[in-house]
Amino acid sequence: MFPWLRDSWLSLLRIFSGDREPHSILLYGKDGLGKKEIARELAKFYLCFNKCGSGYCGSCPSCQNFSRNTHGDFIVIGSENGSKIGIDEIREMIDTVSMTAKMGHGKVVIIENAELLTVSAANSMLKILEEPFPDLLFILTADSLLKLIPTILSRCVKFKINDPDFNMAVSWMRDQVTDKSVDLKHLFLLNNYSPVDTVRFVNANQHHHINRLIKAVADFVYSRSNPAAVIDILKDITKNSPYNKADEEQKDKKSKPKELVFRIIYPWLYYIVSDIYRSRVTGSLRENYFIKTERLLEPFKKIPVHVLHESLEQLIELSRSDQILETSFIDLYIINWLNSLARKQ
Ligand SMILES: [Zn+2]
Repeated sequence: MFPWLRDSWLSLLRIFSGDREPHSILLYGKDGLGKKEIARELAKFYLCFNKCGSGYCGSCPSCQNFSRNTHGDFIVIGSENGSKIGIDEIREMIDTVSMTAKMGHGKVVIIENAELLTVSAANSMLKILEEPFPDLLFILTADSLLKLIPTILSRCVKFKINDPDFNMAVSWMRDQVTDKSVDLKHLFLLNNYSPVDTVRFVNANQHHHINRLIKAVADFVYSRSNPAAVIDILKDITKNSPYNKADEEQKDKKSKPKELVFRIIYPWLYYIVSDIYRSRVTGSLRENYFIKTERLLEPFKKIPVHVLHESLEQLIELSRSDQILETSFIDLYIINWLNSLARKQ
């Protein structure tokens, strides 16, 4: 288990060793902290024949089946590609859990990314959440409580998975990354403070795209070259991004939600312009995220500060917009954004 999950795990053990163990629990916290892992650990613990206050035994038939991925009383419902979880899937799950437990020792259902439940799927679960079968545990996970349907929310015990301690995360990441020379502090920020995503990012060599992207943006700003160079790099970044977990785990060509694409590329552009802006305002490169040398900064020196400011605002605006749905639109937005950055040189 990830070291930053340790405290959460101990709290969960206390909750589930007490007299009033919940029938449904919602584990929420930022993406990339290991909610899936801790949900599975909790399921294993719940189903263990010889559990004790310090965890599952690891050797009973239930623990063994669990480790072999053959546990008949354990169901995971999830969506890797961001598509909705529909009513049919939930109905099928309810039919399955209505049958007697195969090992006679309870059942666990994990619903990953519960925010993806459609309204009808969520409603079809309300009855079972309200009047649960004995020895049935629902474990739901979500990035944020705000995205959940209130009727589901009110029927679950809510448990927050806290952000990792910064130093603990950095030292863990340092052990995991193949390239030990990287500036983990800033890459951690770029990956939304998720240690898991940061390590995937570095080990997929994504950080090498940073200088390529800065140079392409500089070329465009400086000489109004073809914006396609920038768009192509952004596409490379998106394609190889560790955020694109769907590609890794299921090789089919199912389309991913397009806002994910923007979620990946938006911070890259934001941090580049932030660096230029910061260097201009403070006159120093010291605290920059990406632009670490004067040489990389040089082409941007003629951009007026107010243009940089507007450019950042525009990116914030774009990141909040829910109109960005198609890749082709994103290309247009980016070209438009590049043009405004390069104007009045
Ligand atoms: Zn066991």
